[in-house]
Amino acid sequence: MNNRCTVLNLGIPMVGSIYAVLHFTERGIGWIEVSCLILFFTVIGLGITLGFHRYFTHQGFHAITPLGLFLAAVGSMAFQGPVIGWVADHRRHHRYTDQDGDPHSPHVPWRGGWFGRLAGLLHAHVGWIFTEPGSSYSVYAQDLLKDPTLVLIERTYLFWAGLSLGLPWLYGYVLGGPEHGLDCLLFGGCVRAALMQHCTWSVNSFGHAYGYQTYKTGEQSRNNFVVAMLTLGEGWHNNHHAFPRCAFHGLKSHEYDVTGLIVRGLERLGLVSDVIHPTQALLDRGRR
Ligand SMILES: [Zn+2]
Ligand SMILES: [Zn+2]
Repeated sequence: MNNRCTVLNLGIPMVGSIYAVLHFTERGIGWIEVSCLILFFTVIGLGITLGFHRYFTHQGFHAITPLGLFLAAVGSMAFQGPVIGWVADHRRHHRYTDQDGDPHSPHVPWRGGWFGRLAGLLHAHVGWIFTEPGSSYSVYAQDLLKDPTLVLIERTYLFWAGLSLGLPWLYGYVLGGPEHGLDCLLFGGCVRAALMQHCTWSVNSFGHAYGYQTYKTGEQSRNNFVVAMLTLGEGWHNNHHAFPRCAFHGLKSHEYDVTGLIVRGLERLGLVSDVIHPTQALLDRGRR
């Protein structure tokens, strides 16, 4: 991410959220604002989990072109950087997981002691955004650079970021008038973006520190129930590192995976195909 994007991605959600807390302490919030937050959190969250992660990064399924572009556009509204940059960083994480070269490991280079653990968690959660250079597009995302429409969505990132605030405003304006428009911009735009950022970042930090390991992956990825519930299923991170291309991260009956359910639904509707399902041989491989 370049510096301008970093300031935009972190500054707008943070400043807007602080203002929102002060504003709503005085005014309170109603169903329009709450429904706006839930709606945009879910749809834009799926842009990240289903789109940026399981589709563009790992190609766990093939989406029809309009759906793929929709997911790229919606994920670009998450204030987590443009699609190809996001994919490049995440592919680098998978190549060097918890070793030198991993952009956001809580274990490298911090090892041992409570201070080392805390510093590592902070780095993996948010610090890396300021200290790590962006990952090379030509090394990690050459395939995506060949798609001109995706490159266009990448280059128009500021438009999608603006839309990410404009659509919640429109939602509130239509349902309740100008005052609710502003309230929804704050609550469904800025607060939603800040909450989503911390949920996604929790996969990088807590998802490599706390939880259980079903599979021997040779690194520190963990399955974490709380993170999974906050991230539409992305917290079953040890499963994911064991089978990165699998479109489903929850592999046991209690491992609820909302994004995986959406993949199943889209497959039934014929909107996605070539879905990578977990096979029994895959599931039995490398168990601890
Ligand atoms: Zn990971
Ligand atoms: Zn991944």
